[in-house]
Amino acid sequence: MLKEEQILLLKMGELALKGLNRRTFEDQLLKNLRRQLHPLGEWQYNVSQSTVQAIPLTVGVDIDAAARLAGKVFGFAGYAKAIRLPKDMAAILAACAEYLAPALAAAQTFKVEAKRADKSFPLRSPEICETVGERVLEAFPHLRVDVHHPAVTVSVEIREQYAFLHADQQRGAGGLPSGTAGEAAILISGGIDSPVAAWMMGKRGLRLTGIHFASPPYTSARAEEKVHSLLRKVAVYTGPIRLLVVPFTQFQEAIRAHCPEDFFTIVMRRGMMRCAEQLAKTYECGALITGESLGQVASQTLGALACTDAVTALPVFRPLIGMDKEEVVRTARQIDTFDISILPYEDCCTVFTPRHPKTKPRLRQAEEAEAALEMDSLVRTACEGVQIHWITPI
Ligand code: ATP
Ligand code: MG
Repeated sequence: MLKEEQILLLKMGELALKGLNRRTFEDQLLKNLRRQLHPLGEWQYNVSQSTVQAIPLTVGVDIDAAARLAGKVFGFAGYAKAIRLPKDMAAILAACAEYLAPALAAAQTFKVEAKRADKSFPLRSPEICETVGERVLEAFPHLRVDVHHPAVTVSVEIREQYAFLHADQQRGAGGLPSGTAGEAAILISGGIDSPVAAWMMGKRGLRLTGIHFASPPYTSARAEEKVHSLLRKVAVYTGPIRLLVVPFTQFQEAIRAHCPEDFFTIVMRRGMMRCAEQLAKTYECGALITGESLGQVASQTLGALACTDAVTALPVFRPLIGMDKEEVVRTARQIDTFDISILPYEDCCTVFTPRHPKTKPRLRQAEEAEAALEMDSLVRTACEGVQIHWITPI
């Protein structure tokens, strides 16, 4: 009987710190939440005191699916399925036994938290806690109160129109609402690292454009499809992502023909950054993002990164720079990209790889190594051949 009155309660995170800009952040957050929950039905949204109430208007909405999706909206610190009740202690107590049963029957310890946003409610918070606690103990005599490490925290919130009761507060996706930090271009391969980098910067509020360099026939359609699949996973958090696929074969063949082998990778990375900067201008991206981590491979040593950075004036964000592979893998599993990333399709980075890549390149050497290339023309041709795709979440 009670299931129909379930709603979602979502707690805003860092947003609460945003002084005068707060409204802009809140508006974007709500827009993102709407987009996320819309496929499941019609909803009404109420916002008060850093909490959003998402109330289903459609009968039979899958509230568990909604909770899972809401858990992937950046900007919320926590969320819970809750039951909406009249602001009446008898109704609240009656709901305790039934609504909380699944959570409490399985637990050994609990505590009660109460929030009284409506100060006209006759009981104060400690009294609410005490009364609800007694009722819970009556219904589930095996339970013990543990205020420090409870297995279940029962929450009662008395708000303007309704009371809410829940016992399953989960951690939200955190971060800032997508779109509040502007837009940046993520250089995305099919590997483990770049999707994690995309997600991490998306979490800081950036809208993302993906840039993928493809070198057919050395790389296959399946390698590109892998990038689509990876971005679909990221898009569950960030919303739709524009993907620019850049034809890079000619560029790489020119490098192979005209550059010293030990500089192939550095020159290629500089070529990628040049193209990315060009595309960032066209598509109004204010920064570039890569999945590089210091020292991971030859092209990610300090010297190599300095050579790569030298070709662009845009800020280059490398959120993985200080992370171990193990930490990156953990995040990749968490955001569900790992299993896709380890599919074996080749990346253009693995085409023409030097046997002995330069690990301590100097900028002057890198510039000399690429001097024989028609750089402007190669960049222009690659950028002109871009194919645009829109990647939407699955
Ligand atoms: P990943 O696991 O993301 O493939 P990686 O550690 O294997 O990264 P590299 O292959 O050296 O490292 O690439 C470093 C970064 O360069 C990647 O994280 C990504 O940002 C970018 N990059 C590499 N290949 C491509 C590509 N084909 N298209 C776009 N960006 C790429
Ligand atoms: Mg890697």
